[in-house]
Order: sequence, then structure tokens, then C-alpha cells
Amino acid sequence: MAASSSTPRPRTTVAAEDYLEKIEQLISRKGYARVVDIAAELKISQASVTAMVQKLDAEGFVKYEKYRGMVLTSSGLEVARRIAHRHQLLTDFLRVIGVGDEKIIYDDVEGMEHHISPETFQAIETFTRYLEKNPGVAAKIAASARK
Ligand code: ZN
Repeated sequence: MAASSSTPRPRTTVAAEDYLEKIEQLISRKGYARVVDIAAELKISQASVTAMVQKLDAEGFVKYEKYRGMVLTSSGLEVARRIAHRHQLLTDFLRVIGVGDEKIIYDDVEGMEHHISPETFQAIETFTRYLEKNPGVAAKIAASARK
């Protein structure tokens, strides 16, 4: 569902969004997220992860207890789901316009997902769904590049 541009959104940095995205993935995959797992997945030191998680706790995005791990608060979950939705849609978008290399797609999406306004995101979503429903159009565009 489209959020109006006046919907208040928690302010988050790129790093915070990456952490919340990763914490959500770990919790859905393993049932929990520990500092050691986040550090391994984001390739960051455990000390840096701990500092960031404490910051996210202070800002109300996670509840962190040193020996019990962490859970996302409702605003943390909202950010994580927004980023996960963007990640999926932008992946679909790059695939449907003909980017074939999954590593390039992943790396580009990891950057793009943080930097696109709601308006542009909405337009990309409409365009992507249209191309998916009309594979002939996507094929024509792809063929035009080979001429
Ligand atoms: Zn992502």
C-alpha cells in the first residue's frame, strides 16, 4: 500500500537501515539476532555492532539486552519491513529491465534501497509491475539495445 508523503517516518541513517534490515532477516531465519551474527554478516567488528545496537536501542528501534540478544520494537520493525519491501521491488525492477548478474543486482539494490524518495519508488513500482505483466514490452526494450 502506498504511504502518503506526509506520513511521519522515523528518521534513520543508511547504517541504521542496514542493521534493522539484517536484524529482521536473522530473526526470521534463526529466531534470534546476536551481535556476533550481525558482525559476521555485515563484516563489521563486534565492538562496532554493539555500539550501533546500543544506539538503536536508545533511539527506540530495538530492545537490546546484553545476554539475551535483541528484538525489534514496532518502529524498528516498520523500518525493517520498508527496507525489505524496497529491496525486493528494486531487485524485481533490475531483473525485469534486463540486468542479468545477481551480484550486481544485489550490490546496486543495497545502495538504492536507502536513497530513493517515496515518489520515485512508487513510480518504479508501477513501472516494474507493468513490465512484469507485459513481458512483450520488456523483450522489445531488451531487443532495441541489441540493434
Ligand atoms: Zn537490502
